[in-house]
Amino acid sequence: MKAIKGKPFFSGIHLRDNKSLSCGQKAETMPLPQEVYISLSQSLGKPAVPKVEKGAKVREGELLAVADGAISSNVFASIAGEVVDIKPLPCANGETETYVVIKGDGSGEKVTLPPLSAPDAEAIKERIKDCGIVGLGGAGFPAAVKVSPRTPVDTLIINGAECEPYLTCDHRLMLENAEEIARGARYIAKALGVSKIIIGIEANKRDCIAEFEKFDDIQPVLLKKQYPMGSEKHLIYVTTGRKVGLGKLPADHGVVVQNVATAFAVCEAVEKGKPLYERILTVSGGAVKQPKNLWVRVGTCVKDIVDYCGGEVTELIIKKDLQTVKTDADNQTETSKNRVTEKSAVKKVVQGGPMTGVALATYDVYVHKTTAGILLLDKKEAAAEEPTPCLNCGMCADVCPMHIMPMQTAFYSAAGDFETAAKLGGTAACIECGACEYVCPAKRPLIQAIRKTKAYLRGKGVPAPAVKPVDQKGRSAPTVPDKELGENQSENEKENKNG
Ligand code: SF4
Ligand code: SF4
Repeated sequence: MKAIKGKPFFSGIHLRDNKSLSCGQKAETMPLPQEVYISLSQSLGKPAVPKVEKGAKVREGELLAVADGAISSNVFASIAGEVVDIKPLPCANGETETYVVIKGDGSGEKVTLPPLSAPDAEAIKERIKDCGIVGLGGAGFPAAVKVSPRTPVDTLIINGAECEPYLTCDHRLMLENAEEIARGARYIAKALGVSKIIIGIEANKRDCIAEFEKFDDIQPVLLKKQYPMGSEKHLIYVTTGRKVGLGKLPADHGVVVQNVATAFAVCEAVEKGKPLYERILTVSGGAVKQPKNLWVRVGTCVKDIVDYCGGEVTELIIKKDLQTVKTDADNQTETSKNRVTEKSAVKKVVQGGPMTGVALATYDVYVHKTTAGILLLDKKEAAAEEPTPCLNCGMCADVCPMHIMPMQTAFYSAAGDFETAAKLGGTAACIECGACEYVCPAKRPLIQAIRKTKAYLRGKGVPAPAVKPVDQKGRSAPTVPDKELGENQSENEKENKNG
């Protein structure tokens, strides 16, 4: 089907995407790690419950832990070997998770489920659940829950926007595995009982658009390059014109969204019986020697991945040491000698994308099902500047795709008044895209303030939709459901001017 153009949406930002570092790198399969640390927390819900004990021999693809509740997911061994430990360890976000440690035996023994031929909707749903498939776009929401919506849906949207700078793993997957993504999308559509499949792809990946124009049953939609285009609510709006309200689910508006990598994983689960224990990710940034797109096993150590990519870029530091040399005539002459030392160019390491990822304090963290990238950023890219006082410039609110007031959240949360922060800032509607912090000229830590406020609300048991965003004058502030994302641009502008 020939691609059609998606709608624009108001606000958001235009980022330098820095994708050229890795988008030309064909996906490679990383050699098997000798040891993996597999977290039992691989989804939004509770950690899975271990089914193996220390000393157990496991094969690749064997069930290690069973989902605990609806939004938990099954966890599988990603290499064959022996379970040498089950222990708590700090993970990338600083929280502690329980890990199953497997020491590989190099046997490569594996186990799969029987492939399904011509499966019906129920068999597909069951397979997605059994194989522990979660949304691979970053959220980690179990795919099995999404394919069983409470209300009937009519459209499946495959998310190929990949709007985060640097990340190109979805780009490579769409180029190299379009057939598998299309088949996976058809299985998901069958499970949902829908016939309309849309794939949204940003305009900086026109080569992928061409791949999907080959299919008669999938409608490619060319999306404007605008951040955060890959946000579920914005993607739904730009591809279908439907607006998902605060506290509502896409399914309430007849839509289900799945990432391209999730569709690929569904294809593997149905056709090969392969559980989710391997994923594609991007290693990039100005401070890694060889940016790559890699297939890696869940549980692989970030250090091993960085080493496989040639390690860190180093810069030479040249210092002049002055030496006093005696000449024959006993005159003293000064000569200089260079002292050359090497220093790492890495200023910041990020797991995920630079806008929504997590800064790492150590390389000793491990790949999860949702890890889409490892970025080694140099001084220029990391742009680490000290925050200065807020200028009240309003730029953060201008770019916010949810039309809320991040500066209010930051101001009141700094004073410890989280309830006012949430009320005036409209924090509950925040999708944590990072656009506000990116444009802030004072480099205020807005995301940190937003997360702190949300954590406080969660701790108090305040349901997110109960908090209505209001603007600086206490009026109900525009949010996605109340305000057009793109259609009412002039109205939005008027409001900004008057407000
Ligand atoms: S307030 Fe939230 S949704 Fe708005 S720009 Fe900042 S991070 Fe994005
Ligand atoms: S962009 Fe930064 S300086 Fe400007 S109002 Fe927002 S927080 Fe304050």
